[in-house]
Amino acid sequence: MKISLLTAFVIISYITLGQNSKPYFQQTVNNKIQVKLDDSLNTLTGFIETEYVNQSPDELNFIWIHLYPNAYKNNKTALAKQDKNSQGAKLYFLTEQERGYLDSLHFTIDGISAKYEYHPEHIDISKLILNKPLKSGEKITYRTPFYVKIPKGGISRMGHVSQQYQISQWFPKPAVYDKFGWHEMPYLDQGEFYSEFGKYEVSITLPKEYLVAATGNLQTQSEMDWLNKKAKVFDDQGYDTEDGNLNEKNDSNIYKTIVYTQDNIHDFAWFADKLYYVHKSSVELPFSKRKVTAWTFFRYSRGNYWAQSTDYVNDALIYYSQWNGEYPYDNCTAVDGALGAGGGMEYPTITVIGRVDSKESLDEVITHEVGHNWFYGILGFNERRYPYMDEGINTSNEIRYMQLKYPNRTLSDALSTGLGNFLQINDYSSIYYYYLTYLYSARYNKDQSAMDHSDDFSSLNYGAIVYYKTGLVFNLLRNSLGDAKYDSLMHEFFDKWKFKHPDPEDLYVIIKKYLPETKWLTTDFLNSTKKNDYKILKFESNKVLVRNERRISAPVNLTGLYKDSIVNQQWYDGFRGEKWLEFPTQNLTAIRLDHNNVTLDANRKNNTIRTTGILKKTEHIKLKFLGGVENEYRRNLYWTPVVAWNDYNKFMSGVLLHNGIFPSKLIEWQLMPMWSFGSSNYNNVDKMDFLTAKSCLTFRIPINVAFLQTVVAKIKYQRFGENVVTMGNEEKLDFYQRFHAEMDFLIHKKSESSRFNQDILISRTEIYQNNEIDVYNAYSLIAYKGEMNRSINPFHVMVFAEQGDLFQGFFNDRQMYNKTWLDAQYHHTYGKKGHKGLTVRLFAGTSLDNNDAPFYLNANGQSDYRHDYLFLSRNTSSLVHPSNFSSHMYATGEGGFVTLSNLGMGSQWLATLNVKASIPKTIFKWFANIGTYQNAGTNFFPVFSDELTTVKSEKLIWETGIEISILPDLMWISLPILRSNDLNEFVDKTTKNYIQQIYFSINLNKLYPWSLLKSGAF
Ligand SMILES: [Zn+2]
Repeated sequence: MKISLLTAFVIISYITLGQNSKPYFQQTVNNKIQVKLDDSLNTLTGFIETEYVNQSPDELNFIWIHLYPNAYKNNKTALAKQDKNSQGAKLYFLTEQERGYLDSLHFTIDGISAKYEYHPEHIDISKLILNKPLKSGEKITYRTPFYVKIPKGGISRMGHVSQQYQISQWFPKPAVYDKFGWHEMPYLDQGEFYSEFGKYEVSITLPKEYLVAATGNLQTQSEMDWLNKKAKVFDDQGYDTEDGNLNEKNDSNIYKTIVYTQDNIHDFAWFADKLYYVHKSSVELPFSKRKVTAWTFFRYSRGNYWAQSTDYVNDALIYYSQWNGEYPYDNCTAVDGALGAGGGMEYPTITVIGRVDSKESLDEVITHEVGHNWFYGILGFNERRYPYMDEGINTSNEIRYMQLKYPNRTLSDALSTGLGNFLQINDYSSIYYYYLTYLYSARYNKDQSAMDHSDDFSSLNYGAIVYYKTGLVFNLLRNSLGDAKYDSLMHEFFDKWKFKHPDPEDLYVIIKKYLPETKWLTTDFLNSTKKNDYKILKFESNKVLVRNERRISAPVNLTGLYKDSIVNQQWYDGFRGEKWLEFPTQNLTAIRLDHNNVTLDANRKNNTIRTTGILKKTEHIKLKFLGGVENEYRRNLYWTPVVAWNDYNKFMSGVLLHNGIFPSKLIEWQLMPMWSFGSSNYNNVDKMDFLTAKSCLTFRIPINVAFLQTVVAKIKYQRFGENVVTMGNEEKLDFYQRFHAEMDFLIHKKSESSRFNQDILISRTEIYQNNEIDVYNAYSLIAYKGEMNRSINPFHVMVFAEQGDLFQGFFNDRQMYNKTWLDAQYHHTYGKKGHKGLTVRLFAGTSLDNNDAPFYLNANGQSDYRHDYLFLSRNTSSLVHPSNFSSHMYATGEGGFVTLSNLGMGSQWLATLNVKASIPKTIFKWFANIGTYQNAGTNFFPVFSDELTTVKSEKLIWETGIEISILPDLMWISLPILRSNDLNEFVDKTTKNYIQQIYFSINLNKLYPWSLLKSGAF
């Protein structure tokens, strides 16, 4: 979706209109649908009759109608665009046969033929033109046939896997018209729905072997008898005792028609499979004592998790009814879906559940999805515009349910990891995962306001903010108000707004009745990215001094502890600055803020004060292996043994020390000293020369000023051997030290859901080489980087300007240069795996003064003058030592050539084009590099081989060959095959056989232990 000024205007007018006094109304839409499934063609043939009652004060000339199966039609739909920008695009590579669509419409309105047209931008929205204006209070009935091709499953919410069908968002359906106007919206994966309430009567015709799970009440007695029989043939373990009945191949051409009806719903979904097992149960609602039937449908292979699944449905129905208002429908169903990779999806009275890995998580997902019957189903929010309302409030109920049912479930249980003790996460309850995910986003300053539009959330924040942060905020509201008061609030909201479309203001009006000061909730937590952090300063008898370190005055909780047991606990209203809080402090060993982890405290390290002992606030630092999750109770220093190798230091071994991986901290450091076992081979070494190191100190500074979002400042140091010089009989080892400082200014995105990242980088790199010549080089760099970081067709554009200040102490020679260059790359994806495709890269650089600027056709150890990359053999030139294979390592830098030569060196300008194309279904790529430079075609370049000769350069230098991918984008081998004459001549004179003409590349920066730990951390 394009985010334009218009969108912003719509949102602003939305908010302002929200305060206007236009009275509430809602339309009524009653649907009768007949549909037939063809399970060989995977199609639906249907007919829909819709009664549309205009209860608005306005006259309508058209009705927007959603045709959501068209979202799967091609790569131009809003769904496809969102899919393309996500990591791991699924829709993009579908064949024509696997796609879906809806067509064959022919509308009549009250018996008279009517026209429709497609939305100018979205083929999944159409406009039904009314033959005459529909006045306020009047109704029409329109009818149309429709035909649906069901897409392949696993793309989004609708589809089929073989003959298992998930039929949702499948029929022509009017958009909502409310006091803000029309809400036509294209189908999206990230971004849910908004629909009108009404009655549904749906008759489904399909081969008789299918079991159907659907919205509403089944009206067909023969089908009900069959389901009841099915539901009875289970033993206690949930297994079918009449095994062998179920067979997908058991086809017949006998069809059945089954009918479902339901009032007061705004959608209808159904699921069909021949292999379902059926469980049935019933539950009595807490207030009215009315009975609701719970159904679950699942496959045999999931039986171990689903055995008690109806209990989960029942429990969800009881608790949600008790806490929010009674479930108004007669049936509630959960279906095991084959399509999704995880999670679940809600529809009125029925939910579909993805794969789970434990009974507890099945209970959690079923409860969450059943819970949407309240927060989406009965309270019909505009989920697309305010996703936090349904997901966040529902998540807070889910949190309450899980804590009630599984009070001892720890974070490691929730993550299904056996590493709970090692990660030190057994200290926390399972819902701490939500807090950590929020913190992960917030620490990077990537968090967003919960009020954002669903399509504007990054996929991280759709979870971290919409679900988790909001869920925790309402959980905090409940904890601080107390259950009874909170339940009254929710019941009042439910009673006033059931079967209606409440918006945030409608909820806030009710919250205000229970909570006099709501700013911390509605403005700060829900509509900003402000953080919350209280610090405990000191205590005296019967009072505790607490300071608000940030800008949200959320409620505060104090707990008095004697060893591990709670002595007393108290809530206080929020405040700014410092405040003495009345609190009994006798006979305690510690006083803690937020002992139960229900606030969103951004820094828990300052939450505890011990009442005994000398070190009242500090804990001792402990060494801990590898890494772990940040833990307020512990102060850890992490360590990992590391080994490394290069041609000079040989085998190196040492330790990586760091201050934690997850979630990121504002200040992070890594220190990696290593002992070089090869240093003793040389004549000139002293103690220091056994030491190599790579270290980094990072400051992450959230700023949010103008177009800047975050500044990431880094200071790096590294020291490695880089050359061996032979002088007479003596072999001497040269070291380099690299000091690097950078400020990376990350630029705000137009929308966090965009995958286009921009930053401005300023850096200073100083290289000191303790060799005979005494080299001291300094490079100042400024760069703009724009990068489309997505799996389909990624690209980048980078512009650099650099000043080099090169000093050779031995010659007392100082030279300076200024240069600039462009590095632009586009990758056209044509394989299902993102890294397969055609990559085109352009490099063009020029000197900005008359001084020699170092431009290189390729980046090997020597031409990587800023020492940005790590090399196995940095300064051993493969031209001089072609048999030293480690010197054949290269990186994709500057001109991007593979074959090493000194052609082009010292040019004032250089331009090259690099092309790489994956050969489908192989690990091979074809590559071709072509370039030219200042003196191409006119200069002779010296060849330092056995005898000194020269090569005359050509106008165009080029090479082509085959690359073998060992690890995608991490490690590959390049085999040049053909070259331009000058490069050929060069190679002939410097190599003895083909092996010596082969090069390889290893991205050692990505394989650096810290990078590996960080990428594996979450
Ligand atoms: Zn949900």
